[in-house]
Amino acid sequence: MNTTNGKNISSNNAIKKTQVSVSAPKPDSRENRDGGESIYNLSHRDLSPEVFKQAVEHAPVAISITDLQANILYANRAFSKVTGYNNDEVIGENESILSNHTTPRLAYQALWGRLLQKKTWSGLLVNRRKDDSLYLAELSVAPVLDQNEDTVYYLGMHRDSSDLHELEQRVNNLSQMISAVINSSPIAIALLNADTDIILMNPSFQRLVSDLAPEKSAEDAKEILLEMLGDDFINLKKTGKHFHNHEVSFDEGGANQRWLVCNGTIIGLEDEKPGNFFTQPESSHFLLTIDDLTELRQRQLDSQLNALKAVIAEEELAHATREAFNGAIHNLEGPVNLIGAALAMLARRKDVFSDQDPVIQALKDAQKAGHQALENLTRSLPDTSDQSKTSVNVNEVLRNVIRLSTQKLLSHSIVVDWQPALRLPPVLGKEGKLVSAFRSLVDNSIEAMADSNLIKRELTIRTYEQKQGVRIDIIDTGSGIDQSLRFKIFEPFFSTKKPLQGNCRGIGLSMVQETILDHAGTVFVDEDYDSGCCMVVELPL
Ligand code: FAD
Repeated sequence: MNTTNGKNISSNNAIKKTQVSVSAPKPDSRENRDGGESIYNLSHRDLSPEVFKQAVEHAPVAISITDLQANILYANRAFSKVTGYNNDEVIGENESILSNHTTPRLAYQALWGRLLQKKTWSGLLVNRRKDDSLYLAELSVAPVLDQNEDTVYYLGMHRDSSDLHELEQRVNNLSQMISAVINSSPIAIALLNADTDIILMNPSFQRLVSDLAPEKSAEDAKEILLEMLGDDFINLKKTGKHFHNHEVSFDEGGANQRWLVCNGTIIGLEDEKPGNFFTQPESSHFLLTIDDLTELRQRQLDSQLNALKAVIAEEELAHATREAFNGAIHNLEGPVNLIGAALAMLARRKDVFSDQDPVIQALKDAQKAGHQALENLTRSLPDTSDQSKTSVNVNEVLRNVIRLSTQKLLSHSIVVDWQPALRLPPVLGKEGKLVSAFRSLVDNSIEAMADSNLIKRELTIRTYEQKQGVRIDIIDTGSGIDQSLRFKIFEPFFSTKKPLQGNCRGIGLSMVQETILDHAGTVFVDEDYDSGCCMVVELPL
C-alpha cells in the first residue's frame, strides 16, 4: 500500500533491501556426524526469500516488523487475527496502538532498555484490540541488525496467552484454596510416593509425627505409623486395597494416650516429564488421612474408669474384709495352738493331772471354743469374686492403675515415668484382679517414697514383650528392700512397717502373689536393682 501522509508505507517497500540478521538465539548448527557442512545451511541457501516471506506471513504467531521508533512496517495475518486491526489500519502506526496503558512503565523501560542494548526482551503486556477488548500478550521483541551490527528494525512476535494465563490463575487459585483447606484441616494429611517417602504433609500431620516420635524425623515417625497400620498399609501398597477407620493408639508419656483413626487411599498421578507424555507410566501415591479421636475416646475412657472404680472399690472392700478375717484367724490360731500345746504337756503328766481335773476340763473347753471360733471365722470368710478370664491389654491395665493413683501420686509429688511397650500382646486374665494387684504394688511404691525424706521421687512403670509373655517393672526411688527380706515380704502377715502404719497387716503382697499365681505368672524383687525397689511381674501369654 502506498503512503498518503508519508507515514503509512507499504509493507513490501518499507523494509530496506539490506542484509540483516535478527539477534534472536540461533538454532543449533546441526553439523552432520562427519563434520561436514551444516544441513541447516544447505537448506537455507536453497530456499528463496519468498519462502521465508510466506512462512512469516502464515505463521500462527502475530509477527510485526517496526522501524526504530516502533512504527509498524509489516504485520502478518496472525497479527490481524490477534489484534483485530487489518493490515491497512496498523501499517505506519506505532506499536503503542496496542497498549492498554495499564502495563507498568517499568516493563516498557525494560523492553526498550534491552532493545537499545541490541538484546531480545520477552514478557507479558496487557494489550487492547481494535474492539477495545483486552488480552494478555506474551511478547518477544528483538533488534534486526545489519552487516555492521547496527539496529535497522525491530521484530515483534506475540500471541494471546489470556486463556493460558486464565487457566494458570485458576490452577493457582485452586491450589491455594486446596492448600488453605488442607493446611487448616484438623485432620492430618500426608501424601507418600511409591517408595513411601513423604512428599506432602499438612501442619496437622507435622504435629502428629512430632507427638508420635518427639525426637525423630518425620520419616522415622511415618515408619512407626506405617508399622502400626500393619497389614492394612501393606495391602494398600501391594494390591491397592483402600482401608478405612483403622484405629491405632499410642502413649504420649504420663498416662496420656492418643487414639487415631486412619484411612488410606491410592491415587495415580500423571508423570510430568515430557518423555512420558504418550506412555504415562503407572505412578501410585498413597494418601493417608488421620483423624484424632482422643477427645471422644477420653470421654469413653472416663466413664469406663468410673465403672472400674466401682468394681475395684467392691473388690477392695472384699479384700479388706478377707484381710481382717485372715488377721483374726491368724491372731486366734496362736492362743488356740498354745492351749493345744499346754494340754499335750498336761497329758504327759498323768501322775499329777487326771482327765477329770478342772484345769484340764477348762483348757479343753477353751480349746473347743477356740476351734469353734476359728471354724466360724473361716466359714465367714467372704468369697473371692470369681471373675472370668478375658483377653487383657496389660498397658491398658497399668494406665488405669496410674489414673486411679493420680491423686496419691500428686499429693506425694511423685513423678511418673510411664514406658509402655509400643506393641504388647494381650494376656488371658482377670482385669479387675490385675488392676487391684498392680494398684497394690504402686501403693507400696508410693508409701516407700512418702516414708523417706527423698528428694528424687520417681515411679517408673514399664512393660516389655518377652518370649513367652509380658514383663512389667514397677520401679521406685524409695528405700528399697533388704536382700534378706526379698522372699519373706511375700509371706502372709509379714510387714516391715509398724503395726499401725497405713492400716498395714502385711497381707497386700501375699494377695498380689496369689493373683499373679492365679494367672500362672511370677512376681519377684529384681535383685540387681539397688537404687530403690524394682518389683517385676511376668505374665504368660
Ligand atoms: P511510550 O512513550 O511509547 O514509551 C514508554 C517507554 O518506552 C518510555 O520509557 C520511553 O522512554 C521508552 N521508549 C519509547 N520508544 C522508545 C524508543 N524508540 N527508543 C527508546 N526508548 C523508547 N507495546 C505494547 O503495549 N504492546 C505491544 O504489543 C507492543 N509491541 C511492540 C513491538 C515492538 C517490535 C516494539 C519495538 C515495541 C512494542 N511495544 C508494544 C512497545 C511500544 O512501542 C510502546 O513503547 C509501549 O506501548 C508504550 O507506549 P506508551 O505510548 O505508553 O509509551
